[in-house]
Amino acid sequence: MGEKSNLITSTQKIIHQALDNLGYDEGMYELIKEPLRVLKVRIPVEMDDGSTKVFTGYRAQHNDAAGPTKGGIRFHPDVTEDEVVALSMWMTLKAGIVDIPYGGGKGGVICDPRVMSTRELEGVARGYVRAVSQIVGPTKDIPAPDVYTNAQVMAWMMDEYSVKNSDDPFQFITGKPISVGGSKGRETATAMGAVICVEQAMEKRGIPIEEARVVVQGFGNAGSYISKMLYDKGAKIVGISRSSRALYNPEGIDIDYVLDNREKVDLADHMAVSVLSNEELLELDCDVLIPAAIANQVTELNAERIKADIICEAANGPTTEEATRILTEKGALIIPDVLASAGGVTVSYFEWVQNKQGFYWEEDEIQELLEKKMKSAFDTIYDLHEARNMDMRLAAYTVGIKRTSEAVRFRGWA
Ligand code: GLU
Repeated sequence: MGEKSNLITSTQKIIHQALDNLGYDEGMYELIKEPLRVLKVRIPVEMDDGSTKVFTGYRAQHNDAAGPTKGGIRFHPDVTEDEVVALSMWMTLKAGIVDIPYGGGKGGVICDPRVMSTRELEGVARGYVRAVSQIVGPTKDIPAPDVYTNAQVMAWMMDEYSVKNSDDPFQFITGKPISVGGSKGRETATAMGAVICVEQAMEKRGIPIEEARVVVQGFGNAGSYISKMLYDKGAKIVGISRSSRALYNPEGIDIDYVLDNREKVDLADHMAVSVLSNEELLELDCDVLIPAAIANQVTELNAERIKADIICEAANGPTTEEATRILTEKGALIIPDVLASAGGVTVSYFEWVQNKQGFYWEEDEIQELLEKKMKSAFDTIYDLHEARNMDMRLAAYTVGIKRTSEAVRFRGWA
């Protein structure tokens, strides 16, 4: 609980500084420091054993001055209202960073999909949509996948929404399967966005991709896609990790082999690589470090020993405030989470636009549009970081809050 509340306070602190940078007074911060709306819902679901279980869920809508709110719904046993609130603010920042006409929203249900049957999961998904139906919709608030929710869950949610809203239900939610209005390239969009940022950062630091030594912490959805994309582009992935064990090979790890043999327990023996702890992995000699697992991995305790020149935050909040200061002082270039993970919502926006126009783009068109958005976001943030001598996180927050704060001012809300 304490840690989650910290997420709100630390987010508010940087948003405050960002608004100061933009020249706004306290009135603006007073409005933007919290979501406009937070709905708590109770969701009764009939379980497989015939009993009824009541789940608790939330939907936070941070600010809709610049457009409908937008953001994922996570299903996780550790979901709290504070977490959903903080992450809704992050969504405002992400939308502002890639300059798309949305404010931030976020949802969550306290449940554990790992121990639920498909039928029970469908019950929670449909129940959540019924519970929040009064405040969501294609022009109000557009949900999407997040932790432990996927395209199938989005399809159930869209279908439930269509019961009461039969006209154009595809526009209600993004991250859907292609056959029900999903977009090409959405599945890999978040990883692709991070990879584009890494390439931009390498260019700034004069590191050719074929010479780059990369370490990726976490081999889940984000970590595995990012490793594969960078590997295919010619980078040497020298370290990867899965939960407690990390693999290291200074000559580069064969990522295709790892992907094909994920389940092998003795993977390390087959590949002749050394096995390290997660702590050791972070401190390896490399050019790019990509924490793609969980929060608070780089702290004041290990920041001094981090050797990477570029740190790309593919996880939420992997670098603490103190570590950000230490690394920035050491001259490392941090790609903050709100920038590194903005590719997902960007392609979600493309999906929503395609649903509205009823004409669907090819994958290469989506990639091109995504690349344009991410490059321009990276450059704007990097330039601000250089010009005003502020760390990359504050620069990202400053760029990220601009669109919404401007919309708030024009509308006369603050
Ligand atoms: N859940 C993702 C995020 O946090 C995607 C949100 C979206 O596509 O709207 O960025």
